[in-house]
This record gives sequence, structure tokens and C-alpha cells, in this order.
Amino acid sequence: MTSPAAPALSIVVPAYNEQEVLPEFHRRLAAALADIGMAWEVVYVNDGSRDTTLEVMLGLQAGDPRAAVVNLSRNFGKEIALTAGLDHARATEAVVVIDADLQDPPEVIPALVAAWREGFDVVYAQRNTREGETWLKKATAAGFYRVMQRLGGKVHLPPDTGDFRLMSRRAVDALLKLREQHRFMKGLFAWIGFPSRAVRYDRAPRAAGTTKWNYWKLWNFSLEGITSFTVAPLKVATYLGLLTAIGAVLYLTQLLVRTALYGNPVAGYPSLLAVVLFLGGVQMMMLGIIGEYLGRIFNETKGRPLYITERYAPSRTEG
Ligand code: UDP
Ligand code: MG
Repeated sequence: MTSPAAPALSIVVPAYNEQEVLPEFHRRLAAALADIGMAWEVVYVNDGSRDTTLEVMLGLQAGDPRAAVVNLSRNFGKEIALTAGLDHARATEAVVVIDADLQDPPEVIPALVAAWREGFDVVYAQRNTREGETWLKKATAAGFYRVMQRLGGKVHLPPDTGDFRLMSRRAVDALLKLREQHRFMKGLFAWIGFPSRAVRYDRAPRAAGTTKWNYWKLWNFSLEGITSFTVAPLKVATYLGLLTAIGAVLYLTQLLVRTALYGNPVAGYPSLLAVVLFLGGVQMMMLGIIGEYLGRIFNETKGRPLYITERYAPSRTEG
């Protein structure tokens, strides 16, 4: 979507029910980019908000030629809203992805741009602290990164890194070639490769509104991450099956020898039940894991578009 008159830099902002923070976000963004030395636009994506986020966005777009609005036809989730924003970013040089809730400070963007000017295609912002988050959330996040690191193989997921980052035009174009429905963005960002660098920053607590995450959603997010990143869990069944079979053979041998030597005083009903229940549980769990992958294959085979745009109001920035 680039044209000769397009701005050099696009800022993509997915937002769901962010009416309280958006005006403040826009003010801080414009202040942070005042001396950036390149023409920029900001692409606000309304992800089917149920409050007045769309009206606020359209107000900003009417009052500032640098603002664009993409309105999705319903809530599609952050990963897809982000993709919609990237699809509509007109930038010729680089695109920054940032949350609307001011947890990612816009003041960090000049540092991202500076690293990009040094020749890095992907400059990701890495959190120093997780202020305003409970120890439980911190611990689960740390565990998740450790598991992903083990399973990830060649693709390296930088820890303490969200979606807040800058990507060069060619990195964005590469990312936009990945059109899968199950969009684990951290995995996709890592998959494209290119020279990358981290810029460290302090993550602030949410400025207003509430997080859209709860533990159930985070659990599902982790499942999404693992299943769209690696097929390693599918192998668990193979090895568990092998172990069980070996155990069964050993047990049977012992049983035969004992019966031959001492006869068989019939007993052991409880242990039989325990073994049956255990194996039944393991089998169902393995079917569940296969099902997780099967469901994702099902979703991908439908080949639907990622999102539907209700309206696009472009920015009027010129390069
Ligand atoms: N968001 C979105 N669609 C959703 C949920 C969230 O576009 O369905 C946006 C939200 O408005 C915010 C960003 O994604 O700009 C991050 O969301 P949130 O702050 O809830 O996540 P957290 O910072 O807790 O990871
Ligand atoms: Mg947030």
C-alpha cells in the first residue's frame, strides 16, 4: 500500500475499548515524534470495541492529517487487529507496533528508530520491569518463555518482549506473507528472521481501562503459542506409549515367573482399576493434544480472510 507520497514511518495501534486513553495516547505520540525527522502516520485499528473508541478515533483522524482509522467489522482479537493495521500501513521505510494503553511508552520510539538507522530490520523493545503486575503473572510469563525456548528449535523467542517493536518495510512485507489464522505474533515475528536488536525500556502500568487478559485467556494463549510454534507435544504420545509398553512387558514377565513359582492367589482388583483409569486418562489427554492440532488444521483449511474491514479512513500525510 505504498505510494510515492506515502510517509516514511507508520505507527500501528490496535485498540479494543480504549476510549479513555486514546486522546492521551495521541498527544504523547505526537510529542514523542516531534523531532523524529521523518514524515509519519498513525494507523488506529478499532477491533470491534463496545464503547466509543471508534468515535474517538474518527475525531482524532478528522483533527490530525497524520491519523488513519481502520474499523474492523467485529472483535477479531489483538493479533488480527495488528495484522490489519500492518496491512494498511502506508509507510515506505518502517512500521512501529505499539499498544494503545500507554504500557508501551511512545517515548521509546525514537530509540527504536535510532537502532533501525544503524541497520537493524527488527528493533524490539524489551521490558526491564513488569511494574503493576502480580508475582503470579510474572512467574507464569517466565515459565512460558522457558518452555517456548526449549521447544522453539531454530527460532529464537526473545524473553520479556511483547509486540512493541519497529520493523523495516521489507520485514513487514515478509511478515505479511504469513497469513495463517492462528497468529501467535511473537512466533511469527521471530520466524521472519532479519538482523534484530533489543532496546530496553520500563514497562508502565496501564494508564486507564482494564486489561483484556485473564488466566484462562493466558492459558489459551500459551496453548496457541506452543501448538502454532512446534509439533513437539505430538511426540509425547509416542514416548509415553513406548514407556508404558516396556513397563507392561516387565510386569508381565515378573507375573509369569511368580505364578509359576508360587501359584496365583487371585487379588489385585484395586491395582487393576488404577492402571485402567491411568491409561484411559493418558489416552484421552493424547487425543486432546491431537485434537488441538486437528482443530487448527480445520481452521486453516477454510482459507477465510483474516478479518473484514468495515471502514478505512486513510491518513493524509505526505512523504
Ligand atoms: N486489543 C485489541 N483487541 C483485543 C484485545 C486487546 O486490539 O481483542 C488491544 C488493546 O486495546 C491494547 C493491546 O491490544 O492496545 C494490548 O491489550 P491489553 O492491554 O489488554 O493486553 P496486555 O497489555 O495486558 O498484554
Ligand atoms: Mg496492556
